Amino acid sequence: MRTVYLDNNATTMVAREVLEEMLPFFHDYYGNPSSMHSFGGQVGRKLTEARQKVASLIGADPEEIIFTSCGTESDNTAIMSALANNPGKNHIITSRVEHPAVKVLCEHLAQKGYRVTALSVDTEGKLDMDEYEASLTPDTAIVSIMWANNETGVIFPVEEAARLARERGICFHTDAVQAVGKIPIDMKSNTIDMLSLSGHKLHAPKGVGVLYIRKGTRFSPFLIGGHQEKGRRGGTENVPGIIALGKACELAAANMGKENTHVRALRDRLETELLNAIPQSRVNGTRNERLPNTTNISFEFIEGESILLLMDQYGICASSGSACTSGSLQPSHVLRAMGVPYTMSHGSVRFSLSVYNTDEDIDLVVKELPPIIEKLRVLSPYWATTQGACATA
Ligand code: PLP
Repeated sequence: MRTVYLDNNATTMVAREVLEEMLPFFHDYYGNPSSMHSFGGQVGRKLTEARQKVASLIGADPEEIIFTSCGTESDNTAIMSALANNPGKNHIITSRVEHPAVKVLCEHLAQKGYRVTALSVDTEGKLDMDEYEASLTPDTAIVSIMWANNETGVIFPVEEAARLARERGICFHTDAVQAVGKIPIDMKSNTIDMLSLSGHKLHAPKGVGVLYIRKGTRFSPFLIGGHQEKGRRGGTENVPGIIALGKACELAAANMGKENTHVRALRDRLETELLNAIPQSRVNGTRNERLPNTTNISFEFIEGESILLLMDQYGICASSGSACTSGSLQPSHVLRAMGVPYTMSHGSVRFSLSVYNTDEDIDLVVKELPPIIEKLRVLSPYWATTQGACATA
């Protein structure tokens, strides 16, 4: 059975060119980039090249790039560094829809005594900028707001938010894990102090990430150890992963146009055809300020998990907006923050595309999903109630 992979916000396929670029660094060029000998030195030079490629994708200076193990480490490092450098300040601003890499850390810090403001979003998932501006205080140590939401694809005005923070001398971090490679980013034209990205979201392997730190930003390392990354992140570098990320960033730059044309067109067709074919379905998140690859669709009165299981039988991979917590199916914190009604949020599915998707992929989903929804609704006691029939189960 063919796999139709529409779960690229969860992780992406390592691109063939990326795999080819990284493979020699497992077996042939395995030297330690910090070694004095030329066998290691040649690897060090390749790391320099990879750093330049990553920097170039986001309009940064190579010295502003620190390699980490993942997006989560980058997010944790940024926030903990800002707190360490502002010992007199006790306030953190974030949003209610962050990825757990930021959200759960902020909850942990709240338990430790920090005051955390989690900004609301409206029904379209958009940030309340008035609430944001009003919450900036002299006591604020850091603002951490994501560039694009992983569940809905909604893009936040982080450059404007960073400008307002900078005016008040407040450090601004953005989790750009879902944005990098999908929309243009130019760190030379904004005042964001720190930015996180993750390799496995842009066709590099899992286990490599980046923290961008603007020149002049005070920084305290999270991983303390060796002198790697100029003493800003201890630990021998994940050489194959970093080489891969460099290549993936080069590819992402070349494919940026395609994200906006090919990927956007496929996503829009998928969305339009599903909404037309399936009654009581709707898109979660604003249609305008949104990543070109993501759509989050709710199908009322059924469970997202059942939809995923039935789609799986046709080789279709997507994600649901609920998380199974302690035996009960809770709608995602993102959809709850947006006030999506209970009957809608439970039946939400996230489709996230990549440049490798084709029209045939969309054809299959558009053909198979409407009967799946119909079948599940017949079994749903809630659906039966709305149709005027008696619920028997
Ligand atoms: N931030 C966002 C917005 C994400 O979507 C993810 C992963 O899904 C992460 C952070 C965590 O990245 P990683 O899996 O590299 O730790």
